[in-house]
Amino acid sequence: MTTETEICVIGGGPAGAATALRLAQLGRQVCLLERAAFPRQHVGESLPPSIWPVLQLLGVDDLVAQAGFLRATGSVLHWGGGFERRGRNSTRPGLLVDRGRFDALLLQAAAAAGVQVPQPARAYRPVRHGDGWKIPVHSSAGHHAITAQILVDAAGRQAGLGRRFRPTSKPLLALYAYWQVPPGFGAQARVEAGRAHWYWGALLPGGVVNAMVFVDPATCTGLSPAARRDLYLNLLAQSTLLSPCLEQRRIGPVRRSDATSLTETTRPAPDLLRVGEAAFTVDPLSSQGVQLSMGQAVQAAVVLNTILNSPEKGDLALSFYADRQAERVQTHAALAAGFYAKQQAITPAPFWANRSTPLEPGRTAQPDLNPDELRSDQLVHLSPLTSLQVSGVQSATRIEAAPVLTHPNLPRPVACLEGTPLAPLLQRLEGRATVGQIRQRWSDMLGPEHAMRLVHWLWHHRILVPAGESDVIPVSSARRMT
Ligand SMILES: Cc1cc2nc3c(=O)[nH]c(=O)nc-3n(C[C@H](O)[C@H](O)[C@H](O)COP(=O)(O)OP(=O)(O)OC[C@H]3O[C@@H](n4cnc5c(N)ncnc54)[C@H](O)[C@@H]3O)c2cc1C
Repeated sequence: MTTETEICVIGGGPAGAATALRLAQLGRQVCLLERAAFPRQHVGESLPPSIWPVLQLLGVDDLVAQAGFLRATGSVLHWGGGFERRGRNSTRPGLLVDRGRFDALLLQAAAAAGVQVPQPARAYRPVRHGDGWKIPVHSSAGHHAITAQILVDAAGRQAGLGRRFRPTSKPLLALYAYWQVPPGFGAQARVEAGRAHWYWGALLPGGVVNAMVFVDPATCTGLSPAARRDLYLNLLAQSTLLSPCLEQRRIGPVRRSDATSLTETTRPAPDLLRVGEAAFTVDPLSSQGVQLSMGQAVQAAVVLNTILNSPEKGDLALSFYADRQAERVQTHAALAAGFYAKQQAITPAPFWANRSTPLEPGRTAQPDLNPDELRSDQLVHLSPLTSLQVSGVQSATRIEAAPVLTHPNLPRPVACLEGTPLAPLLQRLEGRATVGQIRQRWSDMLGPEHAMRLVHWLWHHRILVPAGESDVIPVSSARRMT
């Protein structure tokens, strides 16, 4: 038996469910295959406050808000010789979730939006077939196949669907177990550096704590499961923040999970996108994996919608997709390395030294921000490092070509600020002008207050620099690329 669909998504985690849901909202025909019956256990239970805009965009924020997950009361950090509490008074706190229920909720929302979800249904290696794909499937109905014009691989980090990953960090392994909650254990994520390892732990819904230890996998080479369990328990006993778990009942076995950062090396194709951990993984230190996967899923849906509606824009849309992924990978590799370097400064073990510089130097934003006050008689001009390039820009439904501002101080190209396209404004900045003159020039388009906010942003990022600091290059004749 063969079923036909326009787009087949393999994997019903946050990446697959969000891609399928958004595609259905854009009117596409989608079938999603998930091999596990939900709810199923999964790591990735601490979601930062920045998850909310993605949930809102997908229309599932109320559903998640009412699902009874824990509001995180910030995080506790024992790192680099310091002790810090972060985000305690955040207006929209992050969440501590049971991933079984969180993922099921997203998948139900996708099904309610019209996505076909045969579950459990395991996909086997897809093969190119005619103008699309044939995906062998095994479900309770037996063996069958799905044919699809486009395939989305959202099957997480472990499935063997012909991927070619490149590591972007030194190998990292998580050993973890669930525990009954110790008395007084609050709803904060806890992060702590050890001698040659680090800890992460958090209270989850249902009164359980997940306590993790991140080690170099070489530490576990040749260990039997019992010896690995003992290693985990010994390391946990050394933790200030998580050792109280040892006084409580352990729920289930000591498990392990690869936590190495990886990126897929094959370029996205018009008929094949990889999303979430099938595309790239970041160091769990940031607790951003789910949010990054879902953000990428929304982009994947818009990219595929563009390819299907306007095939001539396929290259633009795919470059947009590949560039955003490269930025995420580089930014997070640099962030993680900075964090490890902080600990390396006080603990010179190879574990820290090996991780304190990114494996591949990449284009990341320089934290070269201008702290100086800006006077309205200050004479400024655009930094010669500024350029406008034509690139893909995302709207709610498609990728369009538009001029974007690039500068080494920006982590990524910027098309709009506060909803205002920057290119027409920058093209009106010929040569030197005072801040007051720029405000006047832009006020007819933006109003004076909005104009000043944009001037401040450009000054802060050293895109507007004091006249005389370097040669004047008006942006209209600065480097342009298509
Ligand atoms: C140790 C560790 C700790 C982490 N902690 C955090 C954290 O605190 N916060 C955070 O945001 N992120 C965290 N992450 C990252 C987070 O787990 C991932 O970013 C997130 O789960 C990625 O979602 P996904 O949908 O891409 O993949 P997954 O959630 O893995 O979903 C993939 C789905 O595909 C299904 N599947 C696989 N193969 C097939 C097949 N052949 N056919 C059908 N279905 C298939 C699987 O059953 C699974 O449901 C952590 C990661 C690790 C390793």
